[in-house]
This record gives sequence, C-alpha cells and structure tokens, in this order.
Amino acid sequence: TEACLGAIDAAGALNAFVHKTPELAMERAAAADARIARGDAPAMCGLPIGIKDLFCTKGVASQAGSRILQGFLPEYESTVSQKLADAGAVMLGKLNMDEFAMGSSNETSVYGDAVNPWRRGNETTPLTPGGSSGGSAAAVAGDLCLAATGTDTGGSIRQPAAFTGTVGIKPTYGRCSRWGIVAFASSLDQAGPMTKTVRDAAIMLGAMAGHDPKDSTSADLAVPDFEAALSGDIKGKKIGIPKEYRMEGMPQEIETLWSDGIAMMKDAGAEIVDISLPHTKYALPAYYVIAPAEASSNLARYDGVRYGHRAKLEQGDGITEMYEKTRAEGFGPEVQRRVMIGTYVLSAGFYDAYYNRARRVRTLIKRDFETVFDQGIDAILTPATPSAAFGLGEMTDADPVAMYLNDVFTVTVNLAGLPGIAVPTGLDKQGLPLGLQLIGRPWGEADLLCAAHALE
Ligand code: GLN
Repeated sequence: TEACLGAIDAAGALNAFVHKTPELAMERAAAADARIARGDAPAMCGLPIGIKDLFCTKGVASQAGSRILQGFLPEYESTVSQKLADAGAVMLGKLNMDEFAMGSSNETSVYGDAVNPWRRGNETTPLTPGGSSGGSAAAVAGDLCLAATGTDTGGSIRQPAAFTGTVGIKPTYGRCSRWGIVAFASSLDQAGPMTKTVRDAAIMLGAMAGHDPKDSTSADLAVPDFEAALSGDIKGKKIGIPKEYRMEGMPQEIETLWSDGIAMMKDAGAEIVDISLPHTKYALPAYYVIAPAEASSNLARYDGVRYGHRAKLEQGDGITEMYEKTRAEGFGPEVQRRVMIGTYVLSAGFYDAYYNRARRVRTLIKRDFETVFDQGIDAILTPATPSAAFGLGEMTDADPVAMYLNDVFTVTVNLAGLPGIAVPTGLDKQGLPLGLQLIGRPWGEADLLCAAHALE
C-alpha cells in the first residue's frame, strides 16, 4: 500500500487517481496485516486497488467524473466496493473516468484527461487510456495499484483494457450488483475487474460478484470458484469466429492480431468454427438509442436539490431556472448531447420509431448469440477494438459518431447481457498494446476466463 501511494504521487501526470484516500488506505492495510497475522486472510487481503469514481464510497467523494456531483459525499457504500473491502482489498482512492461513463477516451471528465502510460515508439504524444474506465486502465497499466474496478455499458472495461495492455472482464448482466453505482443505462451497466492478468481477474471477480437483494436485477446464483477454472485446458472447445466482425476497412494489424489469436486457440486444441451473427451491424445504432434513452431518465435526478452542485441563482429565479442553470453548468457537452438524444427518442411522437424499434433490434441481436450457443459454440473470438490507443485530442474535434465507432466490437455483448473479456495479445507496429475479445455464454465466466487464460 505504501509503495502504491508513493507511485500514485510520482505519477500525477497520468491523472489516474482523482481522489486519494491515503489515511483510510493505511488503516485498512494495517487491519489486513492483523488479519493475516491471525491466519484469517480472505482472497484479496491487503491488496491495494483503485475504485472507479462511478462507485459510491461512503464519506469519500464520488463524482462520476461530473461537475454536477461536486461536493457529494455518499452516506453509503456500493455493494461491489463493500464486497471488495470485505475480501480485504485496500482502496487507495477514486479513479478518473468519462463523465457519467459516457465516452471512449476519458476526455469528457471534469478532472481532465487521464493519460495512457504507453507511448508510440519514441514519440511523446500523450495517448488516451480509452474510456470510460480510463483512470482504472491507466492506474493498473502504470503500476499505481494491483487492480481496479471498472464499469461497462458498451465497452468501457474492455476498450480501455485493450488500449493499455491489461485484462478487463464485463460479467453477465446481473452477476455483480449495481447498487450504489451511479446509473448510466441501467439495462446495460455492469461492474467488473481490470487487472494485469486473467488470474487476477478471476480472483477479483469472485470477490465482486454475488446476489444482492438491494439490486432486483442481480442474479440469485452461486458464484463459482473462477480461479479454480483456470486449467488452461481448452481442448475440444468450439470457438466461433463471426464473419460480421470482419469490418470493411479494418486495419491490417487488427486482422493479423485476430488470425494470430485464432492460431493460438487452434494450437491449444480448440476447434475453430466460422459463425454468423447477422444483426451485428444494427448493434451500434440500437445502443446509441437505448443507452441515451435510459441515461436521460437516470440523469433526471440531478436537479440541483438532492446532490452536489447547484447554480447561483438570481433574484426572481424560480425552480425552473434552478434546474436549467444547474444542469447547463453541471453537465458537460457529451452528457447534454445524450440527454437530448434520449429525451427525443422517448418523446411521444418518436417512441415507436426509435426506442421500441431499438428494443426489437436488441432482441434480434440476443437471438443471434443464442442461436450460435445452441449450435454448441463455447466462446466467440473477435478483436476488442478497431485500433490501438489514439492520441489525446486526436478525435475530440471529429464528429461524435467517429468516437462512437470505437464501441463497434463491444456493444453487442451489453445488448445481449453476455460476459465478455479483453485480453492483451499483441503489439502494433509502434509498440502499442492490442487486445482480443472473447464472448461467453450467459453465466459462463468460469469457462470464459479459462479460454482467455489460454490466450495470455
Ligand atoms: N463508449 C460507450 C459510450 O460512450 C460506452 C461507455 C461505457 O461502456 N460506459 O456510451
């Protein structure tokens, strides 16, 4: 814990930790030492970790990367961060992220950009660690902590993991409780671990997962011993390669990464099967209707009364002016864009044309996966991202849709509620990490981690 706190101070330029809790960390580390001395050390006893700013942590600033939550000190702890504390993990502080987890580059954060510890060759251009869990990825890759929590609504664990050479798993929807995690799009959000290795991910997921009566969508299922599942044996497993993920204009190095991954799995004894997920091309548009719709509803609670920031009002301002001024000041441009899109697609005249249609598309995407799993496919192998990490600022002036394209390989998994993992499997020409994604059956995290371990 001391070494990590020192590393965090030395690596201020990464802007990964945005609220540090050194006293609390030293207290928890001492308690962990005492447990170890007593011989009752739980799975993560004494391991220093970072918590994404989206998780409510009791008495510790929890701003979701937004100005509107400035000054908000939760009176309760999220179930996931509580479970990690119960497992002995030591929280070092809160991690940078895109505002309300909306973004793919950590550039929408009120705290400013988080920076990727990796560089292109000898260049000094700072690169994005990805988003929205950018601070988590930068902190793990930069050795500021042993592991971190992330959340993934459309790829926010897997894309930053791929950009930083770390491992990130988005569990099956319902595997981890969402209680106490600031909501973005409730039917898509899931928490998961971001770690250096698949083994670490298995251990940490075991500590985070489990039924929680406080989240009605949390599944009442036993949590398997994920670490025990890492046999490394994938002989005879059927790995599906979906042809729709071979996107037009896909960079050669991503193609090569993918075929190298296929070869690795074949060498390990897996059977490679070409499959089709025909509705893949509709996933991104459906996601960018459903996610903003749910976000516009979830974000209605930030009214200047209940949490955090309230705008200064003038004589004669009423409640409407208070809402308007507070929300105009408190939300950044990307969040405002999503609230407007969401409100539009949910409005009376457009609900059927957009929101209901997107929900139907979502069902078709889910069925695509069910069909291939029914045919005996154990896991699906795809690239995690369409490129390696890009430069900070390189995409900010572009059309927002260009940024949304980062999620092209990841959003299908959230729409279908499936588990997905990003594993670092190679470097590009400039020495930047690249990752592959494995998609598993519902509740099949143990098998998925086992297959991912074979790719390491
Ligand atoms: N990049 C996607 C978005 O902006 C996904 C974000 C996430 O998974 N939280 O919505």
